[in-house]
Amino acid sequence: MQVEIVTIGDELLLGFTIDTNAAYLARTLAEIGIEIVHRTTVGDDEDRIAAAVRDGIERTGAVITTGGLGPTSDDRTRPAIAKLFGRELVRDDGIVEQIRQRFWRMSSAKMPETNIVQAMVPTGAHVLENRHGTAPSLMLEDEKGRWVIMLPGVPREMRGLTNDTIIPLLRERVGAAPIAIVSRTVRTTGIGESALAERLGDLAKGMDGLPLAFLPGWEGADLRLTSNSLPVDAAVRALDEAAQKLREAVGSFVYGGERDDLAALVLAMCRERSLTIATAESCTGGLLGARVTAIPGSSDVYVGGVVAYDNSVKTKLLGVRDASLSEHGAVSEQVAREMAEGCARALGTRVGMAITGIAGPGGGTAEKPVGTVWIAVAGAGDTRTLGRVYVGDREEIRLRATQASLDQLRRALALL
Ligand code: AMP
Ligand code: MG
Repeated sequence: MQVEIVTIGDELLLGFTIDTNAAYLARTLAEIGIEIVHRTTVGDDEDRIAAAVRDGIERTGAVITTGGLGPTSDDRTRPAIAKLFGRELVRDDGIVEQIRQRFWRMSSAKMPETNIVQAMVPTGAHVLENRHGTAPSLMLEDEKGRWVIMLPGVPREMRGLTNDTIIPLLRERVGAAPIAIVSRTVRTTGIGESALAERLGDLAKGMDGLPLAFLPGWEGADLRLTSNSLPVDAAVRALDEAAQKLREAVGSFVYGGERDDLAALVLAMCRERSLTIATAESCTGGLLGARVTAIPGSSDVYVGGVVAYDNSVKTKLLGVRDASLSEHGAVSEQVAREMAEGCARALGTRVGMAITGIAGPGGGTAEKPVGTVWIAVAGAGDTRTLGRVYVGDREEIRLRATQASLDQLRRALALL
């Protein structure tokens, strides 16, 4: 089944409110095989609401709206859609009573008269009870079976109604063995999008009706395959096969799938091998330690770390040699190596991980521009080092550096 979404509200167009409703509906409806084929956002304007819903009805025949069902004068969805369908708005005294009781129950207050508009129902509409707020959801269907469902804008109410009422209702309409929308993600890191595409060759175009999306971010580039034309069992089989082909083509740059966190995977690898870790961080200031300790149960692997921001900390606590600093500079392969080896020694761990770099925006030189990062991993085989120049803002450079250091450890551990 194909559905359109129309989200309504001036605040969405102005960018003050991010349209999380459309994203939630798309994700949730995909789980029952409903594909969102079009998304529109309009302001609190009756004509524009009516035009957007009319277009959706004509194109797809199935529209879900959110927003504009409130009690104030900027809430125009109800009259706009009633008019579009040629229906009168009639007051439903049962709903008035429910709203009255809700006010009393929630706040021992009298219902303001303005709330009565929320009990106005287009003739012939199905009223879908809202246990999460005052305005009920409404569904209108025309003589051709084309329909619109109006949901409230408040995300909590919208989600509640979707789960309580809309999903069961639409599941019934979709019928048995629905076409599922299922995705598989292959997570890669340490390789750029275009190099990835080159490795994939023809696979980059997707396989057998499974379109492939490249989703780059600071963790790396995710490859996401989506099936939207098969029943769920067949979709899962096809995706598993296709994902395997991707993994084979990409090779060691693949570190996981779906929502795998590289920090969690690396911790598990260390745990299996009974290895402990210490960190020494300069430009990331503890971000790597924070990522590792965000994983529950990290304490049996991660011992602790040194934020070695100033050179004096590098020398006093980590034993980095003054000569290395003066000859190579703080952001150098040699200093990263001594930091990694030094933190493992100082904290008595098998593995030491180090990051030193220039996160910017200032501090760059022609020789070492902003984004220059040196990473070292000691104690898992020979000490490995990696030098990179990352693009991005300060935060992004710091995050990329933590990911790269974890990836160096992953690669080292895979050889043990
Ligand atoms: P409304 O039902 O239009 O009165 O919207 C009530 C509140 O819900 C608004 O003030 C917004 O903060 C929020 N809201 C409305 N539409 C959305 C949306 N599409 N995504 C996220 N929040 C929304
Ligand atoms: Mg609104």
